[in-house]
Amino acid sequence: MKIWLDGGLRDIESARVSALDHGLTVGDGVFETVKAVDGKPFALTRHLDRLTRSARGLGLPDPDLDEVRRACTAVLAAEPMPLGRLRITYTGGYGPLGSDRGEHGPTLLVALGESTWRPDSTAVITVPWTRNERGALAGLKTTSYAENVVALARARRHGASEALFGNTVGQLCEGTGSNVFVVLDGEIHTPPLSSGCLAGITRALAAEWTGARETDLPLDVLERADEVFLTSTLRDVQAVHRVDDRELPGAPGPVTAKAMRIFAERSGHDLDP
Ligand code: PLP
Repeated sequence: MKIWLDGGLRDIESARVSALDHGLTVGDGVFETVKAVDGKPFALTRHLDRLTRSARGLGLPDPDLDEVRRACTAVLAAEPMPLGRLRITYTGGYGPLGSDRGEHGPTLLVALGESTWRPDSTAVITVPWTRNERGALAGLKTTSYAENVVALARARRHGASEALFGNTVGQLCEGTGSNVFVVLDGEIHTPPLSSGCLAGITRALAAEWTGARETDLPLDVLERADEVFLTSTLRDVQAVHRVDDRELPGAPGPVTAKAMRIFAERSGHDLDP
């Protein structure tokens, strides 16, 4: 398997990142996961815009987007597969222990893995931990994902594939790697970015294409919503059939099923200029 590192394609066995890379030692990095269907990345321009926004949020230099594009093309060409996930990682680079970032770096790494088609519906749990909508990292896609790792492990122990967070004022926020939508009286709602959620690319497209509204929602809306669904690069639009102990029989319900159809139809077209 080949990955892009140090400006070129390398064999995974010989590709080496410094043991003192700040991405590894302190989570000083940002990333993107991009879906690739038949070797073609989906919505790459939007992902690269967000990569730049996240990098700026951490105070990293802007990534060289021409190089990132070349890297994605090269990695995809080296490993043809019907459904792939490109992982773009961009970190502060490395230096001696105790050094500030920037002595050697930044580091750009692009890897490709196989993705699997997701089932139409899934189970989720809510977790007692909160997203900090006023924190320095709110809305940034950084490599500091340990809290998501812990929450996802709890979800797995409960037979669920995703864990949903509220924020510090008790509003519904997002999942560990997805955005959340609820259907109330036939209308689709999703938390606004001010809730602290990531500006999901699937979220934005699904909201635009279905007419979903951004609404501040209390976390307990999940106890009464008629339908719930998730969006993410790797899930597209996915219905929820259980939230904690609450079953949502018949998921995907009619509104979610329509959103799934619309998303599948429109996302089949190239969004990049
Ligand atoms: N929220 C978080 C915390 C994420 O990590 C992700 C994606 O990885 C999402 C939401 C969904 O974003 P997107 O639709 O761009 O994949």
